[in-house]
Amino acid sequence: MKLWRRFFASFWTTLRQLPRRDTLSYPEQQPQLGPRWRGRPVLTRDADGEERCVACELCSAVCPTQCIALGGADRPDGRRFAESFRINFARCIYCGLCEEACPTLAIQLSPEFAFAQSERGDFVYGKEALLIDGPGKHPDYRYYDHAGVRICALPPAAAVDPRSNLP
Ligand code: SF4
Ligand code: SF4
Repeated sequence: MKLWRRFFASFWTTLRQLPRRDTLSYPEQQPQLGPRWRGRPVLTRDADGEERCVACELCSAVCPTQCIALGGADRPDGRRFAESFRINFARCIYCGLCEEACPTLAIQLSPEFAFAQSERGDFVYGKEALLIDGPGKHPDYRYYDHAGVRICALPPAAAVDPRSNLP
């Protein structure tokens, strides 16, 4: 008896799901992506239009598939930038670790997911294809507003008695 009840319960569950249609007629119908969707990484600029990347290579070091390669150089004003930047999207797994590691918020995962290619070599994107004109998810962030800024007018440090911390 119990077995029959279970059978009809599961049959009823299946029947109830029949009118549901989760399949989209892509590409006419585009899927709704979540706000934290992880698609193709891009390189962004700050609010002044300057490249954010300072060629520190942290993204390249942390990338589990080692698909990022870049070369840095110095500008005449001493600021460092990525002279070349390459990502092999045939190996990228969209884990987002490069974005997490980037100290300047330069590399960000975009919502783009539709960039299929027929040749494997076409998945290798150079800097000209990676660098976008906008700031991405962080419109007002400028790395140099926070890094390398001289801190002045700090109050004098209070005298510390090192013995007071002894057990
Ligand atoms: S998303 Fe992950 S796999 Fe892709 S480039 Fe960034 S760190 Fe590498
Ligand atoms: S994208 Fe970010 S982590 Fe990668 S080299 Fe540039 S500044 Fe460093």
